[in-house]
Amino acid sequence: MAYINLDQQLVEQIAEHYKAIITLLGEDPNREGLVKTPIRAAKALLENTRGYNEDGGHYLRSAIFKHDDSQMVIVRDIEFYSLCEHHILPFFGTVSIGYIPDGEIVGLSKLGRVVDTCSRKLQVQERMTIELCELISRELKNKGVIVVARAQHLCMKMRGVEKQTAETVTMHYCGAFEDINTRQEFLELINK
Ligand SMILES: [Zn+2]
Repeated sequence: MAYINLDQQLVEQIAEHYKAIITLLGEDPNREGLVKTPIRAAKALLENTRGYNEDGGHYLRSAIFKHDDSQMVIVRDIEFYSLCEHHILPFFGTVSIGYIPDGEIVGLSKLGRVVDTCSRKLQVQERMTIELCELISRELKNKGVIVVARAQHLCMKMRGVEKQTAETVTMHYCGAFEDINTRQEFLELINK
């Protein structure tokens, strides 16, 4: 993991809290294996919530190109990692995005960046799916946008319920994807 541009003062403040938590667990925060843990955990937390400091709209606007054709564009199985806002435990999986251009297309790698900005924060999968769809729909001229997210939630897998194989699927769409045939075409292509 690359810890770039982290606010050192913030890292140290968060690390103090991690040190207190480690102590409350009955551990010795000064033993060799744990002595650097608060700082490492603070950096990891900031890295995993960097979406708070990133503007997804900016990424999209930086790579919009004119395009005349208006056939469906699909980027499927973009990996994402997020933290559930109820337990601060990871949920992760893939996002597939489809849109129908209306004179514009966006650089495909930017869609990956946008997924990061929506996922790297305290989040719920349902809202992440909606945020992504609305953001793309707002920034890019389009005739329709659809987002499908599939994820495993460690708060389900590790805690009491322990449903080891459960996968949560969420979907949000607008415009032309309101039409079930268009939606069906997208779903068939991403499930191939
Ligand atoms: Zn949870």
